[in-house]
Amino acid sequence: MKKVAVFPGSFDPFTIGHEAIIRRAINLFDEIIIAVGANALKKNFYSLETRKEMINKVFENEPRVTVDHYEGLTVDYCRKKGAGYLLRGLRTSADFEFERAIGQVNKAMAPGIESVFLLTVPEHSFINSTIVRDIIINGGDASRFVPAAINLNDYKGISDQENVT
Ligand code: ADP
Repeated sequence: MKKVAVFPGSFDPFTIGHEAIIRRAINLFDEIIIAVGANALKKNFYSLETRKEMINKVFENEPRVTVDHYEGLTVDYCRKKGAGYLLRGLRTSADFEFERAIGQVNKAMAPGIESVFLLTVPEHSFINSTIVRDIIINGGDASRFVPAAINLNDYKGISDQENVT
């Protein structure tokens, strides 16, 4: 059976930490779906469409990686896509505690879906989307923290657009 994994997240924005996890996981699965969570209650900087466009750019030459979005429970989305694996990255012990709870709840709800965790390389363990977003919002150069294929100047954040008169 085809091994399909879902890599869920907010990806606001997608960072080199996310990219590295996908590139390492690509040889473990036949297909990886990067699934951007569309949470109406969460205030995002980049719109859903922008986040998907950025990620698509990174993997445009990688047919085994696709980009999608979803609402609702991640395990329901996995079932809908026929995915048997949930891929997550682990940076710190805080990540571990958070992921442990989610992973165990997901296992209780969907016993057939396995969560797979990859440890980040040390150089990426301090990179998180919140900090990268703060750098961008405050006019700093965040280019070294996002994949080379993403030119941040090509994308506007939602609050930037609101500020355009
Ligand atoms: P979420 O909203 O679920 O926190 P993120 O976009 O922040 O979504 O992260 C999605 C996944 O990527 C999570 O499993 C997270 O632990 C992992 N991740 C985030 N940043 C890194 C990084 N620098 N290195 C490795 N994994 C990471």
